[in-house]
Amino acid sequence: MNLLSVVVPFYNEGEALFELHKQLTGCLDALQVPYEIILVDDGSTDSSLEIARGFCKGQNIKIISFSRNFGQQSAISAGLKHVQGDAVVIMDADLQDPPELIEKFLDSFNMGYDVVYGIRTKRKENIFKRLTYKIYYRLLRATATLPLPVDSGDFCLISRKAADILNALPERNRYIRGLRAWLGFSQLGIAYERKKRCQGETKYTLKKMLRIAFDGIVAFSRTPYQFFAISGSLISLLSVLIGFGMLLSGVTSVIAWALIGLLFLNGLQCLGLGLIGESVWHITQEAKGRPDYIIRETLGFNDDSSH
Ligand code: UDP
Ligand code: MG
Repeated sequence: MNLLSVVVPFYNEGEALFELHKQLTGCLDALQVPYEIILVDDGSTDSSLEIARGFCKGQNIKIISFSRNFGQQSAISAGLKHVQGDAVVIMDADLQDPPELIEKFLDSFNMGYDVVYGIRTKRKENIFKRLTYKIYYRLLRATATLPLPVDSGDFCLISRKAADILNALPERNRYIRGLRAWLGFSQLGIAYERKKRCQGETKYTLKKMLRIAFDGIVAFSRTPYQFFAISGSLISLLSVLIGFGMLLSGVTSVIAWALIGLLFLNGLQCLGLGLIGESVWHITQEAKGRPDYIIRETLGFNDDSSH
């Protein structure tokens, strides 16, 4: 390992940055691996940027500062674009992601894993957050087109080649933890207890939480469209069968026929929505320009490569 990069997005973290700096550099120094820390200021309006600047005296702490608040996922993306290390750790600034875990991440990386991510076993957060996250991750997993690990946030270590692939993706509105799963290669989840934030309040307002949750569902879930298409077809088919039954048994009630007609049209509408959804899915997939596949290695060619 020539260099380990650590990307930390922050937004109005103020005093928390002192504790982060102390604990993170302490852990990294103990690892005895050369490192760089890239602090990404997501348009903070408090003294965070000034505080971060104070750490910047050494060569191994760098700062990227946004013109305004663009969101944590954009801040991570910006950090990833500037890393120089052989592996990159992504972590929050509030010490909810314990820096001590980086050692375990690194051990797994040295064993050959390209992606090592934290799985939050216990959360020291309020019941609302715990419950909504639990439900959300399971809903996402159930509807996603690829197996997304549940209860894992952005805290992870990824190899340089994984970071390079993420950096080369033209798509915006990134849901990093989903793209990380999409990468493939050898991945490992490591369980950890998510602590309370060391200072201040969450920077995720309900609006921001809903936005990132929606981004995740829209980017990785195809099942809702398929559900509409299939249930719409079934409803229409059922109404036709009932209609035949009514015809054979000589039902003449106008209300009964109107209801069955409505059921048929409702089914058609659901089917139409599902088909439009499927088309939108295909269009967005094309627009995102993700590669069709990622090759791990080739064998027997003149220009064999191995990632
Ligand atoms: N963050 C950010 N931009 C934002 C919101 C949050 O860079 O618009 C950072 C924040 O400073 C922290 C990390 O993203 O380092 C996670 O945010 P937070 O701890 O508030 O989220 P929670 O842990 O409550 O989900
Ligand atoms: Mg937090």
